[in-house]
Amino acid sequence: MKDERILIVEDENDVNRLLATILSDYQTTSAFSGTEAKLYLASAKYDLVLLDLMLPGMTGEEIIDHMRGQGIKTPVIVISAKQEVADRVNVLRMGADDFIMKPFEIDEVLARVEAVLRRCGQREQPAASPGGQQKLSDGTLVIGNLTLNHDTRQVTAAGKEVALTVKEFDILELLMRYPKKVFTRENLFTAVWGEEYFGEDNTVNVHMSNLRQKLAKADKETEYIKTVWGIGFKMNI
Ligand code: CA
Repeated sequence: MKDERILIVEDENDVNRLLATILSDYQTTSAFSGTEAKLYLASAKYDLVLLDLMLPGMTGEEIIDHMRGQGIKTPVIVISAKQEVADRVNVLRMGADDFIMKPFEIDEVLARVEAVLRRCGQREQPAASPGGQQKLSDGTLVIGNLTLNHDTRQVTAAGKEVALTVKEFDILELLMRYPKKVFTRENLFTAVWGEEYFGEDNTVNVHMSNLRQKLAKADKETEYIKTVWGIGFKMNI
């Protein structure tokens, strides 16, 4: 089961059900009118909207208009029986990301959904989170010019790769996950070393100092980690 959430907006029961079946690997929600779709969009975040154009309540075009007007950047694939090039061009201009003509092929729907999700990333795509960091669709954490990927354990500063030891990486990851939090040396030691703390300030200091030196070597312009005197460390955001 994939964790991307897809809103299917289609008033024909059978077609809606068919789309939900085709996309059963994803978390799907079905809306059967334009007004229902608007309610869902107001109450939850989706990674993709599959949108019919001729709908009761609000038309598909009105929904795209509403979404973009509200700053909802969720990608939209229009699925419509409208054959005219002008209709397709129109919805793409309005901010739809792709267009599938009815009647559709199952494989085509799947391929286009996958392509749009890949292109647009997930719902945590480059929109700044309240925490101050961004998270890309592959899980890469981004703060300013600094990126960190948990899976590949790669870190870059100003586009340059920074080779870190395991502990340095773990410290940085913790700081980047909670960029507004000030971590005491005890916090860091307990979390990163996973051992009980008996005043190992020096251990933390040494690793922190090495980590900062490596970041500074890659990017002299930016101080990524700030010392909060008397308390500890936090990201400099
Ligand atoms: Ca319809």
